[in-house]
Amino acid sequence: MNKEQLQLELKKLFKSLDFVSDNFLNEKKKSRKKDFDIYFNIYQQLGLLWEYLGLHCKHWDGYKKVRDEKEACKICGKIKSADESYYLFPTKGQKIIGRKSKPNSKKTFKNKIEATIIDDTINFHGAVLNVGVHNSYKSKLLKEHDINMARERIVKLKESEVECSLDDHLISIEFPNTRKNIRGKHIYGNFVWELRRNDLKKFPVMFNFDKNYNFLGLTIFR
Ligand SMILES: [Zn+2]
Repeated sequence: MNKEQLQLELKKLFKSLDFVSDNFLNEKKKSRKKDFDIYFNIYQQLGLLWEYLGLHCKHWDGYKKVRDEKEACKICGKIKSADESYYLFPTKGQKIIGRKSKPNSKKTFKNKIEATIIDDTINFHGAVLNVGVHNSYKSKLLKEHDINMARERIVKLKESEVECSLDDHLISIEFPNTRKNIRGKHIYGNFVWELRRNDLKKFPVMFNFDKNYNFLGLTIFR
């Protein structure tokens, strides 16, 4: 929807909202309880439509001052910095939710909830993506001592039971077997050069590098 279309639709909608509220929800005009409920619902449904139309708005004309020191969009009336409760996406083309966020404070927070900036998950055509960003906080992982958890941004992708997680320091991939076998067994970790050639042959991993042996990535065969 472009700006002109949207402005027109919203204008009509605001008129309808005012009409219902002035004529049927006004306390002075005593409607019967049953009628009042019906008009009340209509008003709520128009409110939903308002929210839906507002999702199309790019707040092209900026904001104006309204009650309580708040600012509202001149077109759709959305309050600046208020949370959106719905998302609207094009069926084709790239879908965007949110902006890239990073830890934003040097402070150590009391607990994880207070330190969390975002912890959001989407199941996208069967692949599950989670983005977690938090500032540093005190954790009670060990009962006697608090541990300071470092601020970080972690992105996790899970596809057909394989989980890949990325943060500022590590990229790790976990296979379903890892989790299944973890109980009662040791999991070892070594750098490649620490392993014997015969043991290495059991790992279906290929390293990618350039002619100067700069590491470019790796491929794991399933
Ligand atoms: Zn707007």
